[in-house]
Amino acid sequence: MLTKKIFRSGLAALLIMFALTGVSCSGKKTNDDPLGAIKKRGVLKIGVKADVPGFGMQNTGTGKYEGFEIEIAKLFAADIFGDASKVEFTPVTAKTRGPLVDTGEVDMIIATFTITEERKLSYNFTTPYYTDAVGMLVLRSAGLASLKDCNGKTIGVAQSATSKDAIDKAAKEQGITLKFAEFATYPELKAALDSKRIDVFSVDKSILGGYLDAASVILPDQFAPQPYGVVSKLSNTAFAAYTEEKISAWLADGTIGNLIAQFNL
Ligand code: GLU
Repeated sequence: MLTKKIFRSGLAALLIMFALTGVSCSGKKTNDDPLGAIKKRGVLKIGVKADVPGFGMQNTGTGKYEGFEIEIAKLFAADIFGDASKVEFTPVTAKTRGPLVDTGEVDMIIATFTITEERKLSYNFTTPYYTDAVGMLVLRSAGLASLKDCNGKTIGVAQSATSKDAIDKAAKEQGITLKFAEFATYPELKAALDSKRIDVFSVDKSILGGYLDAASVILPDQFAPQPYGVVSKLSNTAFAAYTEEKISAWLADGTIGNLIAQFNL
């Protein structure tokens, strides 16, 4: 009887101890600060675009990053460190950004990353902070005015981007057939367009804006809404909850709306 009582009170004490120290019965910490490692490091690491005007662009003169998504990154740094400058930017492409967050080389990605059901199986996405659409950049000399004119034409798209599926679906709906050529980077796509290896350069309109010049035009056609979310590692649900809480708050209090207006997006 007495041993049972001792055992019970011992167990109770043990449970209280676990609760106080935040260690669960499985031995795992339950109240880990999702920002602990970042705070200890002293800098937030974020993957951004370096070639998307208005969103993420590296100023060739100063080397500094500028744009709407850069400002969101600085908001996170200001929130975590009370200092908007404590952020280190890594330039990413559609192809490199996923692996960079998987390996932990960056804490998050804020880089025109479209939220899709398929991608949600691999990454945590926040609520969208902006929604773009897929567009088409053509040479003025090509005489193409819309997707309808592109039957049999070659469409250049970036690897790992949503563009190919989006434009292929739109083409099928219009009863036309397209050929596709895939490239790793947008500068390669622009070079292919200029040398007429492709007839159309297709990706989100925001990205096309960075490659528009006197010889080219962005067609009025647009397809497939592209909602952009802040991306973090799938397994780090506590950190994802933090990013979601912040983006939702900045949407609700007008911070993000003001930035969209400031950058004329
Ligand atoms: N936003 C599109 C995507 O996530 C285009 C690719 C890109 O962002 O570079 O697939």
